[in-house]
Amino acid sequence: MEKIINYIDGELREPVSGSYLENIEPATGEPYSLLADSDRQDVELAVEAAKKAFPLWSKTSKDDRSEILYRISELILQNLDKLAAAESKDNGKPVSLATKVDIPRAAHNFRFFATAILHFASESHQMEEAAINYTMKSPIGVAGCISPWNLPLYLFSWKIAPALAAGNCVVAKPSEVTPMSAYLLSKLCIEAGLPKGVLNIVHGLGHKVGAAITEHPDIPVISFTGGTSTGAQIARTAAPMFKKLSLELGGKNPALIFDDCKYEKMLKTVVRSSFANQGQICLCGSRLLIHSSIYDKFKKDFIREVQKLKVGDPKSADTNQGALVSKAHMEKVLSYVEIAKSEGGKILCGGNQVDLSEEGLGGYFVEPTVIEGLGMSCRTNQEEIFGPVVTIMPFDTEEEAIELSNATSYGLAASVWTENVSRTNRVAEQLHMGIVWVNCWLLRDLRTPFGGVKNSGVGREGGFEALRFFTEPKNVCIKY
Ligand code: NDP
Repeated sequence: MEKIINYIDGELREPVSGSYLENIEPATGEPYSLLADSDRQDVELAVEAAKKAFPLWSKTSKDDRSEILYRISELILQNLDKLAAAESKDNGKPVSLATKVDIPRAAHNFRFFATAILHFASESHQMEEAAINYTMKSPIGVAGCISPWNLPLYLFSWKIAPALAAGNCVVAKPSEVTPMSAYLLSKLCIEAGLPKGVLNIVHGLGHKVGAAITEHPDIPVISFTGGTSTGAQIARTAAPMFKKLSLELGGKNPALIFDDCKYEKMLKTVVRSSFANQGQICLCGSRLLIHSSIYDKFKKDFIREVQKLKVGDPKSADTNQGALVSKAHMEKVLSYVEIAKSEGGKILCGGNQVDLSEEGLGGYFVEPTVIEGLGMSCRTNQEEIFGPVVTIMPFDTEEEAIELSNATSYGLAASVWTENVSRTNRVAEQLHMGIVWVNCWLLRDLRTPFGGVKNSGVGREGGFEALRFFTEPKNVCIKY
């Protein structure tokens, strides 16, 4: 079986312990590769390599850094089909999604930050006392980047690219559940001529590799995307060391569907925003709030469209829903269907595992599931399920829709469907979320701030926000 190994000091290296874990293909439920089961010793080597590389990389001109990142972006595009097939096999997502979204977006992340750094300017503040201040922005040192399994290369590159563009060296850990595309990226970084030690990728378990990165005294800045409880643990570890932290955590996002929306466009997009990537996108809308005057019509039309989604082989071009990422995750998702039933929820469609074993796919497929009849305070509507499960609920007034939307501990994203411009602004202002989409979903401009409030995290990624995060500002005051 192929071995997924670490990328440290410019080389592909076996883990110091020599231990490996099995990497499972979600569609078949069978192991198909081995993954380095790294530990503290590998993280130590990675940090040493990054520290050694930092003086030169941080002084490398922005133009040169930009050129190398751009080359990585080009190589990702040249290898698009290979990367998309690998991502689909490793994660269970339809290959069509990986080809259209994940891999082009990873390339775009590198390209975007390769150029953003060229435009990243300092502020200056003139004083009446014949003095001028300017903000010197310097790379920080070794950055720790820890990413989840749902959009493996997409989110991995979203952190690494700005960290490197800003002149930091990086020790990164992809999710142990989906390590393949990060491993292939390490080969592309070697091909692109990224200097040794600038990027180091250590594979393995969160409580070993992730914890060693978080605790390391020579990693002063950490960018993490993942679950809220892991984020809280990282914050507890990092706080007494005064590390700079960006935490992009879970969500329980509402879609607010008003009766004056463009109905057909809304319906099509809400099916996608509910079930894209099997509902395993932190931005998916899992609580659908519908104006009561169109509730019955929406319910009928939505169920009809959801039942058309084809659950099947991620490799097939006509598959809409692939496999969930792991057995444990599938069991968690199905347990929430039972919780919903016990809370009095009515399963309108779905709710079961899909057995594709006759096609040789003994993996983790679940029907897209729609539930109604639950109040906002129940667990189904409060806890992140992160799978193909949504609830639908009517509302009568704009105020009620806003109140229901804000009634969870999360605050990542909302989508609002209305043609009323005044309402758009009123509602957006009152939603306690980091992102509000109006009449669209997942329309991303990489220059915009990205992140959540409440239990969805702290800090913002994207555009100059990310470059500010990965640099230390210093005020220089010159009296003349
Ligand atoms: P986890 O929090 O379980 O894991 C995220 C990463 O952290 C993985 O690489 C994991 O490694 C690692 N990790 C686990 N434990 C520790 C630890 N103690 N110290 C340091 N690192 C650790 O999240 P998932 O991978 O399950 O991802 C799903 C979650 O991510 C969902 O809650 C989702 O909402 C959230 N998410 C948020 C986004 C946002 O932008 N706000 C975007 C995408 C996802 P390992 O895989 O080995 O456990």
